Amino acid sequence: MSSDFDVVVIGSGPAGEKAAMQAAKVRQRVAVVDRPGALGGNCLHTATIPSKTLRETILYVAGVKQRSLYGIQTTFRKDVTVDDLMRRKEAVIAGQLEVLEHKLDRNAVTAVFGTARFLDPNRIEVLDGEGGRRELGARFIVIATGSRPARDPSIPFDDKRIYDSDSILRLDRVPRTLTIVGAGVIGCEYACMFAMLGTKVTLIDARPRVLDFVDAEIAELLVARMRDLGITLRLGEAVAEVRCETADRIVAETRSGKAVVGEKLLYAVGREGNTGGLALESAGLRAGRRGLLEVNGHFQTAVPHVYAVGDVIGFPSLAATSMHQGRLAMAHAFGVPVNGEGTRLPYGIFTIPEISMVGETEEQLTRACVPYEVGQAFFREIARGEIVGDRAGMLKLLFERASHRLRGVHIIGEKAAELVHIGQAVLAFGGPVDYFVDNVFNYPTLSEAYKVAALNGLNRL
Ligand SMILES: Cc1cc2nc3c(=O)[nH]c(=O)nc-3n(C[C@H](O)[C@H](O)[C@H](O)COP(=O)(O)OP(=O)(O)OC[C@H]3O[C@@H](n4cnc5c(N)ncnc54)[C@H](O)[C@@H]3O)c2cc1C
Repeated sequence: MSSDFDVVVIGSGPAGEKAAMQAAKVRQRVAVVDRPGALGGNCLHTATIPSKTLRETILYVAGVKQRSLYGIQTTFRKDVTVDDLMRRKEAVIAGQLEVLEHKLDRNAVTAVFGTARFLDPNRIEVLDGEGGRRELGARFIVIATGSRPARDPSIPFDDKRIYDSDSILRLDRVPRTLTIVGAGVIGCEYACMFAMLGTKVTLIDARPRVLDFVDAEIAELLVARMRDLGITLRLGEAVAEVRCETADRIVAETRSGKAVVGEKLLYAVGREGNTGGLALESAGLRAGRRGLLEVNGHFQTAVPHVYAVGDVIGFPSLAATSMHQGRLAMAHAFGVPVNGEGTRLPYGIFTIPEISMVGETEEQLTRACVPYEVGQAFFREIARGEIVGDRAGMLKLLFERASHRLRGVHIIGEKAAELVHIGQAVLAFGGPVDYFVDNVFNYPTLSEAYKVAALNGLNRL
């Protein structure tokens, strides 16, 4: 059977969903294909939503607030199971799924369930895994198939003792000790979560510092907080071998000869694009390194009516940017004007404490020879910081010395990922740091940190 659409989107994660919605809004006939049970993408089922729900649950059960507010050392219930921790995740997923189904329905987007692959540049085949087959033809095709954890063949993954960032959500119990290989965003986030649960975490990475795209000062503050949480960092150490010696003794041996022993091991080094089963060659396409697709500034692949968005095109591989790319791709396809290219992307990193940033780092401004000044506010100086018990948080503004134009906002601490959007708005409008001085901020709020940081920076000039 053959059905014809204006757009067929492969993958219903944040990138695919927003591409479909944008096309539907301009009255195109749209179909979204995803595997049975996978509507909402990895984002909803194995990545962002479960991990952030788990983090929120951990902050609650580990009594983080009580500790910082009242100095109470809450003892975490040792008998708490991973199921207990994950229960809320199911409710959140169900809620979000309902919202998504409703949105697709309201916008007359057809959901097709099965695995898609190209038959030619305008047609795909969908196999439902139970003998059902459907062909879909379209003027435009959007590849939004996301990514999966890269599995180094030399690591003996068994998802019982050695996990990747998908299977860690199926952990049977909270381990006493955990080795995490890879101090990227996912590795750092899980390191903080498990450390909060009382697990003794060792974090290993071949790179000399964590999160190398983050402003160095903020990364240093994070490292200090991680050490406070009892996390052992082994940076600049490449893992040469991982072996299971007994049921609960996993040894990660570093090239320098160190043996890091843990009850469980999470391997979180890199991700690869889900392009393997797409029969790209039938569309005249070829995946590049790590299965990723190359696109131009409008998210068109080498075949102009085939777009690719989200994790399948690589960095920055965030849900937020994936959504934006999906929308921009279809806006381009149907000539919808777009204001602002969204080049100043915010990053939210949900370590404990969380980090968020938008614009340039000190290192980038230095490399670009921009004369800049720094304004800082520590949350302990802000009434709200004291009230919520975050004395270590910090907000830092980077701005041009001559024009005062804001160039970067970097935050570590409570609500960082929310706070950053105030700075993002000023950046997007090319505003000066004086904006924060000239305007009144609610009191007591953490947003007040912007004013304190701006005054601090201007006073330094
Ligand atoms: C542990 C973890 C935590 C994260 N936390 C955050 C966070 O806090 N904030 C943030 O912004 N980002 C976060 N991310 C990143 C975020 O999850 C991804 O950037 C986002 O999911 C990418 O969206 P996407 O639409 O490209 O693909 P995905 O969400 O990966 O969805 C792709 C979909 O395509 C489907 N698919 C693949 N191949 C086919 C095929 N052949 N046929 C049919 N369907 C197919 C898959 O089944 C899947 O449903 C996190 C990632 C991980 C792993």
